[in-house]
Amino acid sequence: MPSTERQMPPDGTSLAPKQMDRSGLCIGCGACTARSDARATGMRLDHYGQFKPPASHHPRGFAQLCPFSPDAKNEDDIARERFASAKHCDPHIGRFEAAYVGYVRENTFRTDGSSGGMASWTAVELLETNLVDGVAHVVPRSEDSELLFHYRLSRTAEDVRAGAKSRYYPVELSGVIDEMSRCPGRYAVVGIPCFIKALHLLCLQDPVLRERVAFTLGLFCGHMKSTRFVESIAWQLGEKVEAVADVDFRVKDVTRPANWYTARLLLKDGSTRSKDWWHLADGDWGAGFFQNSACNFCDDVVAETADISFGDAWAEPYASDGRGTNVVVVRSPLLRRLVDHARNEGRLELQEVDSAFVVGTQAAGFRQRREGLAFRLSRPRRGVTPKKRVAPQRAGLVPRRMTIYWLRSLVSAQSHRVFRLARILHWPAIYTRWASTMLAFYQGVTYSRGWIGKLVSRICPEMADSGRTSSDDEPGA
Ligand SMILES: Cc1cc2nc3c(=O)[nH]c(=O)nc-3n(C[C@H](O)[C@H](O)[C@H](O)COP(=O)(O)OP(=O)(O)OC[C@H]3O[C@@H](n4cnc5c(N)ncnc54)[C@H](O)[C@@H]3O)c2cc1C
Ligand code: SF4
Ligand code: SF4
Repeated sequence: MPSTERQMPPDGTSLAPKQMDRSGLCIGCGACTARSDARATGMRLDHYGQFKPPASHHPRGFAQLCPFSPDAKNEDDIARERFASAKHCDPHIGRFEAAYVGYVRENTFRTDGSSGGMASWTAVELLETNLVDGVAHVVPRSEDSELLFHYRLSRTAEDVRAGAKSRYYPVELSGVIDEMSRCPGRYAVVGIPCFIKALHLLCLQDPVLRERVAFTLGLFCGHMKSTRFVESIAWQLGEKVEAVADVDFRVKDVTRPANWYTARLLLKDGSTRSKDWWHLADGDWGAGFFQNSACNFCDDVVAETADISFGDAWAEPYASDGRGTNVVVVRSPLLRRLVDHARNEGRLELQEVDSAFVVGTQAAGFRQRREGLAFRLSRPRRGVTPKKRVAPQRAGLVPRRMTIYWLRSLVSAQSHRVFRLARILHWPAIYTRWASTMLAFYQGVTYSRGWIGKLVSRICPEMADSGRTSSDDEPGA
C-alpha cells in the first residue's frame, strides 16, 4: 500500500473513518457510527455541508465495514453470496433475475414519484403483504431543523408514500440502523448503491441486523450532492436557505420531457419559487457541482447488491415522456414473483428488457464510472488507495476526453471551496459567477458549446464531428 495514511489506530484495527475522510473516500453513510458508541456524538455536517463521522472515532471491524475501505468485500463478493443462483450476470449491472422498463399503473405512485413510482410501490407492497413491518427511506424533515431531509422508518403505506421523490441531498443511516437494532421486526431499506453496500457489510458483522433487514431497495446513482446545492438554488432564486421549508428537485410536468428538470422551493411563508435546472449556474448534472469526493471512486451505478433497484429510463421514447418511466433490476426471486404477480393483475405496466437496455439508459453514469474511474485511478493521489473493480488506465483516451474527466473533478472539488468562501463573505456572486464560468468551460469542452466549444473543436477535433463530444455525457440524475 503506497499510502502514508495507513497507520494502526489505537484500538488495533487497520483503518479509521478519519483516514477515509482525509483521503476523500467518506461518503457519509453513517454505517461506522451506527456500530459504536459514537452514535451519541453522531454524524455531523462538515463545513462543506457533507456528513462525516466523529473525528476521534475508530470502531472495531471498520476496515471490513466501510463501503470505500480497500479491505472490505466488493459488490461482486456481496452479490455472489446474496444471489448465488441468479439467472443472469452482467459486467455492468451485476447478478439479476429480470429487468424491466415501465411504470406503476395503480393509484398515484407514478404521478407522485420522481420516475415511474416503482420504488414507493415496491416498499408499500412489501408492507401491505406483511413481508416487512417498516421501511427505512428518506423523507422531508417535519420539525424545524437545519436539515431538509432525513432517513425515517415508516410503518404505514401513507407514510411510505409521503416519502416519494428523489432527494439530491446528504442523508445518513445511523439513526434508522439504531432503530432497527432496538425494535424487533423485519425491515426494507431504500438507498443509493454505496449505502446499500454499507448496510450489507454491516449485516455481515451484526446478526441481529442481518435478521431484521429483510429487503434492500436500491436507487441507481449518478452522484451525491452536499447541502449547498439547495442553498445555491435558493441564492439563484433570490432567497436564503433559512427561508426554505421543502424542495422538490424534480417537479413533474407531463407536457415536457422527463429529463428537463425543474427545481421548486417551498418557502416557510407558503410561497414557492421554481427554476429549470438548465437556467441554474450549477444545474448541469454531468459537471459534478457539489459532488461528494468519494463518488469519484465509485463503480456501482445500479445498486448491484440490492434485492431490487430502480432508475430512470434515460432512453427514447421514455426520456421524452414527462410522466416518468423506471428501469427496474430485480435480483431477489421473491421480489420477482411479487412484481410479476402485479404485472399479471395489470397493476404494473412493465416490459422485460435485457441488460444492454438498462446499461444504455445509464450510459453517462457508466462512462464516468468505468473509463472515467480508470483515468482517475491512474492519477497520483495521497491517502488511502481505493481498491476498485476497474483497473487504473489512461492509455487510449484522447486528450479531450481526459480534459472532460479532469474538469469534472475540478468542478466537484472547487465548488465546495468557492461556495464556502462566498458564504463566509455573504457574497453569492463570488460563487455564481465562478460556477457560470466553469459551466461554460465544461459545456464548451463536453458539448462543443459556444466560443469555447469552437476553439476546443479546432484544437482537438477528434470528438467534435457531431457538434457534441459524445452522446452519453447528457445530464440526468
Ligand atoms: C442521489 C441520487 C442520485 C440518483 N442518480 C440517478 C442516476 O444517475 N440515474 C438514474 O436513472 N437514477 C438515479 N437516481 C434514482 C432516481 O432519481 C429515482 O429515485 C428512481 O428512478 C426511483 O424513482 P421512483 O419514481 O420509482 O421512486 P419514488 O416513488 O419517487 O420513491 C423514491 C424513494 O427513494 C427514497 N429516497 C429519495 N431520496 C433518497 C436518498 N437520497 N437516499 C435514499 N433514499 C432516497 C424516497 O424516500 C422514496 O422512498 C438517483 C437518486 C438519488 C437519490
Ligand atoms: S463512508 Fe460511511 S462507513 Fe466509511 S467512514 Fe464514511 S461514514 Fe463511516
Ligand atoms: S455515486 Fe456511488 S459513491 Fe457516490 S453517492 Fe452514488 S453510489 Fe454513493
